[in-house]
Amino acid sequence: MIIIENFINGTYEKNTSDEWINCHNPADGFVYAKLPNSGTETINKACEAAAAAFKKWSQKRPQERSNILLKIAQLIEENIEELAAAESKDNGKPLSLAKKVDIPRAAENFRFFGQAITQFHSESHPQLEEKKINYTVRQALGVVCCISPWNLPLYLLTWKIAPALASGNCVVAKPSEITPYTAYLLANICHKAGLPKGVLNIIHGEGKTTGQILSKHQLIKAISFTGGTTTGAIIAQNTAPYFKKISLEMGGKNPNIIFADCDYENMLQTTLKSSFSNQGQICLCGSRIFIEESIYDQFKRDFVARVSQLKIGPPKSSNTDIGAIVSKTHMNKILGYIKKAKNEGAKLLFGGQKLIIPDHEQGYYLCPTVLEINSNSCVINQEEVFGPVVSLMRFKSEEEVLLLANDSPYGLSASVWTSNLKRAMYFSEKLETGMVWINTWMHRDLRTPFGGIKNSGLGREGGYEALRFFTEAKNICINYQ
Ligand code: NAD
Repeated sequence: MIIIENFINGTYEKNTSDEWINCHNPADGFVYAKLPNSGTETINKACEAAAAAFKKWSQKRPQERSNILLKIAQLIEENIEELAAAESKDNGKPLSLAKKVDIPRAAENFRFFGQAITQFHSESHPQLEEKKINYTVRQALGVVCCISPWNLPLYLLTWKIAPALASGNCVVAKPSEITPYTAYLLANICHKAGLPKGVLNIIHGEGKTTGQILSKHQLIKAISFTGGTTTGAIIAQNTAPYFKKISLEMGGKNPNIIFADCDYENMLQTTLKSSFSNQGQICLCGSRIFIEESIYDQFKRDFVARVSQLKIGPPKSSNTDIGAIVSKTHMNKILGYIKKAKNEGAKLLFGGQKLIIPDHEQGYYLCPTVLEINSNSCVINQEEVFGPVVSLMRFKSEEEVLLLANDSPYGLSASVWTSNLKRAMYFSEKLETGMVWINTWMHRDLRTPFGGIKNSGLGREGGYEALRFFTEAKNICINYQ
């Protein structure tokens, strides 16, 4: 049994309370670790340690902070085998995916922000006629809180921690209680890289207890959150009376719009990925697939044929395409959505059921599922399922599909497949989402703003946007006449 411990003021702390949470391995359903459900006393300690470390850390030269972040990136890379194995065990994702995407990206997050902070600049506005000059400085906020979800555990935790630390803040982070393992390992890596004590504290526990107490804590100046829309709303409500700065990255129900004039093979391969990567548990997955009528039947046939070739199996197996769903609760939620869709008249084209994998009979495996629908107002198209489930729907015209795509409470991302430049430009302007991909999906450049509109998000992460979030602008005006 692995014991996950909190990391406070530079050391791992034993849980002295009786409050524990079990961690299940999604691949076989067995409990393999336990973590503390941290309460007020622990949270106070972590916040106070961070506050005490703030002055020294924020006053370091950017280059000094950068050097430590770059070292963390290097150590993550050196420990990729251990981290990838931990991530896959915790989350159920294929080990190959953790090795190829999750862990390298965690290293890249530290490297990117370690470099970006050395280039981060402020503004100056001279008023020469009046002999005055304004200049703006960006100052670190103090103690900030980073709350992350279970789908890309280390990838998303580091996406927040790295810019927060780079810009001079001290952090109290709370990873998802469902996938705490790599965050636990990261603490040691940061310590080894020379991160001073108290600068990063990682505490574990449930959202409604640990997360809630932490986000309301008086020493926390800002909260960077990624997770579900309902949780984001709770955090916004809880923190509003204290005027804390918040950044919310939340759910999505992203349209994937396919026109007949697209590069068909490229679209088909990418659509398979945008539908089922990470068991469909990526906020950017394109779960609403709209296909132009003239290629609808061809697409349906080809797509289902490709889906039927995907290998569902134990995360450790090298030929697994689709691993286990993160938890039994989540698997049952997804199965519930499939049932609802069928009750509403959706036609099941493929999948729809739980799978029993030999030697992993208690694991949480679902068949990738393709549904055919004829109305965008059905539950499966309006609510986020966050699993390996997509719907196919035909459209006749640009006007029709634009209305369908925007008919959603969410507005995170969209993909459009077409070789018509005018159409691509039209859709990129009119789609109500924070990000649009034309003839691609999830192509990421860490310099670009990341986030959604409507119920998908508030604020932006990525590049200088993240550094701006984690700093406060102060303008100084000098009169020199
Ligand atoms: P969740 O909202 O249940 O939990 C996310 C985090 O918030 C966890 O650490 C949890 O413990 C914590 N939390 C829960 N209740 C809290 C509270 N009252 N106060 C403070 N913290 C609390 O989300 P999840 O199930 O872990 O993740 C799945 C969701 O995340 C999906 O909706 C998905 O779309 C979203 N997501 C969004 C993005 C994005 O960038 N927009 C990226 C990944 C995942």
